[in-house]
Amino acid sequence: MSRFLSGKYADMTPYTPGEQPRNRKYIKLNTNESPFPPSEKALLLAAEEAKSLQLYPDPECLRLREALAARLGAEPEEVLPTNGSDEILNFAFMAFCDKDCGAVFPDITYGFYPVFAELNGVPYREIPLAEDFSVRTGDYCGVNATVFLANPNAPTGMALPRTEIEKILRANPDNVVVIDEAYVDFGGESCVGLIHDYDNLLVTQTFSKSRSMAGARLGFGVGNAELIRDLNTIKYSTNPYNINRMTAAAGLGVLADEEYTRENCRAVEENREFAAAELRALGFECLESRANFILAKHPRTDGAYIYEALKERGILIRHFTKERIKEYNRITVGSREQMQALVEALKEIV
Ligand code: PMP
Repeated sequence: MSRFLSGKYADMTPYTPGEQPRNRKYIKLNTNESPFPPSEKALLLAAEEAKSLQLYPDPECLRLREALAARLGAEPEEVLPTNGSDEILNFAFMAFCDKDCGAVFPDITYGFYPVFAELNGVPYREIPLAEDFSVRTGDYCGVNATVFLANPNAPTGMALPRTEIEKILRANPDNVVVIDEAYVDFGGESCVGLIHDYDNLLVTQTFSKSRSMAGARLGFGVGNAELIRDLNTIKYSTNPYNINRMTAAAGLGVLADEEYTRENCRAVEENREFAAAELRALGFECLESRANFILAKHPRTDGAYIYEALKERGILIRHFTKERIKEYNRITVGSREQMQALVEALKEIV
């Protein structure tokens, strides 16, 4: 830390992204990326758009908002594209939380939530998941704070039905409820259809997982127009050009290639069921996942050891050190070949 860093950040522990190794070619199952290449349409449109890089992009991102709105059954003014969904989540902490209105989220969830809370000086409470890692919706009713819930949750992969989210929305009419649907396309139930029923609902999604665009950084929020206007105040006060030209063009290409996305999601779901069955046959306990990853532990083999032993064999997965899940590893669901290689390596290890 330099002697110039503002005291308000002195105690910050930043988010630790998953490893992006450069020294060796790994089978990369550690950051929930898609094993499939981006849509051809996305690549073509992005390459064409690159010819106009001397010009700023459209700060209103109008064409992308129109295309997204049409896909989501919303209006363009109900949608805000961002630089990854991380950005809209940070905007939500900035816009809808402060020292008088803190945040609540589960103890085991996306590790960026406490970081955003700390960055923005927002007091927060972590609500323990049940013993079986499920979200007890009753714990989120009448909390007097902004609610952040990943659904499906990460790194558990477990999902809540929409009816349970509705209970939380109804029980917190004066607080914003943010539903982070980064993984919803792999078998979850989306709450986007509820935005016209609840003025306190903000849904966030991403192009990083199901749409093979993690490297382009594109996410979005969808909610009633007033919430989106508030979030735009934050956007225009930080980075009006948050979506670069190539990313916006690639996003349009992906949205025009919906069947490709659907096929890839179906393949990931099949590979997930294949991998979970193979892991269980090796004695692993796997949580019931509706996402593109599996959280698994072995009753007789240490979680950190499994992570290291796989790494030595050229396979990267994600190990967490948090007490409640330190025996587990989160394994991204990749292609069938990648899952087969994983299973073969695990047979040697356990
Ligand atoms: N939410 C959850 C639950 C995630 O796991 C991630 C991925 N790290 C994100 C949001 C953010 O993803 P991105 O910024 O790539 O859209």
